[in-house]
Amino acid sequence: MARIVMKFGGTSVADVEKIKNVARRVKSEVDAGNQVAVVVSAMSGKTNQLVGWADEISPMYDAREYDVIVSSGEQVTVGLMAMALQSIDVPARSWLGWQIPIKTDGAHAKARIQEIDTTELDKRMNSGEVVCVAGFQGIAPDNRITTLGRGGSDTSAVALAAALKADRCDIYTDVDGVYTTDPRIVPKARKIEKITYEEMLELASLGAKVLQTRSVEMAMNHRVRVQVRSSFSDVEGTLVVDEDEIVEQEVVSGIAYSRDEAKITLVKVADKPGIAASIFSPLADANINVDMIVQNVSEDGKSTDMTFTVPRGEFKRALQVIEGNSVNIGYKELLSTSDVTKVSIIGVGMRSHVGVARKMFETLAEKGINIQVISTSEIKVSVLIAEEYTELAVRALHTAYGLDAE
Ligand code: ADP
Ligand code: ASP
Ligand code: MG
Repeated sequence: MARIVMKFGGTSVADVEKIKNVARRVKSEVDAGNQVAVVVSAMSGKTNQLVGWADEISPMYDAREYDVIVSSGEQVTVGLMAMALQSIDVPARSWLGWQIPIKTDGAHAKARIQEIDTTELDKRMNSGEVVCVAGFQGIAPDNRITTLGRGGSDTSAVALAAALKADRCDIYTDVDGVYTTDPRIVPKARKIEKITYEEMLELASLGAKVLQTRSVEMAMNHRVRVQVRSSFSDVEGTLVVDEDEIVEQEVVSGIAYSRDEAKITLVKVADKPGIAASIFSPLADANINVDMIVQNVSEDGKSTDMTFTVPRGEFKRALQVIEGNSVNIGYKELLSTSDVTKVSIIGVGMRSHVGVARKMFETLAEKGINIQVISTSEIKVSVLIAEEYTELAVRALHTAYGLDAE
């Protein structure tokens, strides 16, 4: 007997028929003698619709009310899931975040889980009941509903698996595992049998939305065995594991891309100590996440150009902050665009191989794709390119690193 958490994403619970299909899957785990906790997302498209309504009323919305609105999608699916299970004779009960409670901090719309009280869930699971938990939501210290950021049901599932000391956390989605890159844009993408926590963390944070970044962080910290698999087939999925569980390591394991980028350049800022601080401190004060940064070599020793990227959602605000500090910073011109994509290659094998980045630059050059900004870490290289070349770049790199499926 095992204790498992099964998480079903939006496309897996997109309508009543699909919910019934998922219920049958849960039943087969129960029939095999397992204790099961189910975590559900909202029906696919629902959260976008709810966000859209909030935006329509007030683009500068109150985050507390935003959370009340956008958490409602999961309330519907969790109730339907419990009902679908009951109707096939599986004892089940639904749980909203506040009822458990799943306690979070007060950062509305992007709250972090701090503590899950499993007393009642434990009792119910031990007695054979399936506990159905609404993903994506929790409760803040002031007793208001919080949500965990887009894609947050993955994090609900992993956090629950850690708290319940589950043997496995299965993430059911619309693809049958983690692929070498997004299978929607590269038909030759290959399913990965096992991937390390570290690589999965980079893939997720660099744009592969198959798992929310925080869910991977949490799995890594609590050593939760996560498997990504399909709701619509029985094939084996992808296991996220420790590095020592992987026998043959590719140099590059995966490629990710993110269109959620915007680029800002300050032309002719003074080349002197303190200039970076004068630009990036006010951005940090405004809670804006700066990602890639490049400072040109100064031609005359007096002035230089500073380029950096921010998430698209923070683009306008970042420009306002820079303009508001223009006197203090001092620049000749402010250039900006959101027509950019960040493409990244990821692999723990990079630590022990040379020439990996060179191949990336050469491949892009052969396709005539200009690299605007580069950033690297131990196990990844990212480049910023014009958005129109996204698919071309990802496909070319996929081929260049030998990742194409036969
Ligand atoms: P869910 O609603 O089940 O949470 P998501 O849409 O959040 O599903 O995540 C699954 C999607 O992630 C897939 O449909 C796929 O297009 C996308 N994706 C991006 N990169 C990858 C990758 N490397 N491997 C698998 N899927 C990926
Ligand atoms: N329903 C939420 C979203 O669409 C959470 C999730 O699906 O993981 O972002
Ligand atoms: Mg998701």
